[in-house]
Amino acid sequence: MTHRTPAQAFSDQPRDWRNYIDGRFTDNGAEMIDVLNPATGTLLGRIPETDADQVDVAVKAARHAQGAWEKLPAIERAGYLRKISAKLREHRLELADLIVKEQGKIRGLAQVEVDFTADYIDYMAEWARRIEGEVLTSDRPNETMLLLRKPVGVVAGILPWNFPFFLIARKMAPALVTGNTIVIKPSEETPLNAYLFAELLAETDLPAGVFNLIGGRGHVSGEALASHPGVDLITFTGSVATGSHIMQLAAKNLTRVNLELGGKAPAIVLKDADLDLAAQAIYDSRVINTGQVCNCAERVYVERPVHNAFVEKMKALFEATRYGDPSVLEDLHMGPLVSQAGLEKVARAVDLAREQGAQVIIGGKAADLGQGFHYEPTLITGATEKMDIMQRETFGPVLPIQVVDGLDEAIALANDSEYGLTSSIYTRDLNAAMQAARELKFGETYINRENFEAMQGFHAGRRKSGIGGADGKHGLYEFTETHVVYIAG
Ligand code: NAD
Repeated sequence: MTHRTPAQAFSDQPRDWRNYIDGRFTDNGAEMIDVLNPATGTLLGRIPETDADQVDVAVKAARHAQGAWEKLPAIERAGYLRKISAKLREHRLELADLIVKEQGKIRGLAQVEVDFTADYIDYMAEWARRIEGEVLTSDRPNETMLLLRKPVGVVAGILPWNFPFFLIARKMAPALVTGNTIVIKPSEETPLNAYLFAELLAETDLPAGVFNLIGGRGHVSGEALASHPGVDLITFTGSVATGSHIMQLAAKNLTRVNLELGGKAPAIVLKDADLDLAAQAIYDSRVINTGQVCNCAERVYVERPVHNAFVEKMKALFEATRYGDPSVLEDLHMGPLVSQAGLEKVARAVDLAREQGAQVIIGGKAADLGQGFHYEPTLITGATEKMDIMQRETFGPVLPIQVVDGLDEAIALANDSEYGLTSSIYTRDLNAAMQAARELKFGETYINRENFEAMQGFHAGRRKSGIGGADGKHGLYEFTETHVVYIAG
């Protein structure tokens, strides 16, 4: 039998990929799902629709493996994680190429995603020697109390399509280093990179059942996984509607949830800001990943005296945007939207903004490139508070701007949102920046820089943007629970 290396596996013609359960690639069921290249609409491969019975097999495999995995010293678990990150680095070019073709990301960003993912796994592995408990004095004489930090058990990770590769690591690495096992369900829009991840992971000696991958649609395999009573924690990244639904499914079994949901990040530009810096950072934040990033600036509040100058700078940047098919073109700012549905959602949002009285300064329609789901980079002015374009997540290369009279008004408008993930402010005034830091009700605030979180921070949303968070020490401990032990003297 010839061994197919992952590199060959992807350079082949479209093929059927197989779930990875209990250390084996399993036989597929009857139904397969097509995965398309969003820049061309061509078939890239097919993945299985995993039914409830197969989901059950995966959860049981994770449960079976968890006992022995938890008993390993954390530093040994970290060793396995480092073998996985080394595999990713060995295959970094193929992995990035697959993300380009499958999600429509430009090549440079896809490469950043792969490299950041390997670094993230190593960063989480470093926590192995730093997972802390506590020793407390007791109310009784000579008694000691121990607060032990334990794994929650079996984790289900349900992923979106916008950073499909990195999000595997954001779920898997902290789960595994703290002694949990995991079942991952990638988005049906962009699952192939997760299947390639599993093929690389299978080349390491990670014990069977510790990492399991199942494919399928949300309402079938996602639903079966989220409602499985054998899951101890669901860590989900995706839309508010799905997050709310998953929470209802979890409630039936009282399964814990960690939810990273949508955003409508405000950017505030004050009259004393470095306007070039602000325009460039907000532009970068808007076109990165074709505007499909939960934490990037989606609405701008600009102080009246600098409104026109700011709009001129933004317009110049939007006009110079290069976009197209990233699998054949280099040096692009952005690729296509992920799907026809994504394209239609963005088009509807811009049409509604027009109907509600906003002005489209540049862009404002689907881009005619002959094929693929492309939308023109779009700048909108004259937006007002009640317009949908200032309230609903657009998830595309569309930037609406509203004029404001002062910081207090900008902060009030920024906070008047059902979302509370990230926010940003551009100013040279330290007092204004500190007022924003105090009064903005968001999980993150970026001052004079674009929105992009660091792995040692804590990425967490307020209001409908989520429950719990990810990254750093606080994100790691979301995968643990505290066990109190009383030792009588
Ligand atoms: P989505 O909610 O449509 O899908 C996410 C995942 O949920 C997919 O794997 C899907 O199959 C699954 N799913 C759908 N219905 C389900 C159901 N009934 N039961 C169980 N699972 C189900 O989201 P998407 O379109 O893939 O991703 C875009 C959204 O994700 C945006 O709103 C974006 O803001 C958000 N997002 C948030 C963060 C964050 O860190 N807060 C990061 C990335 C993306």
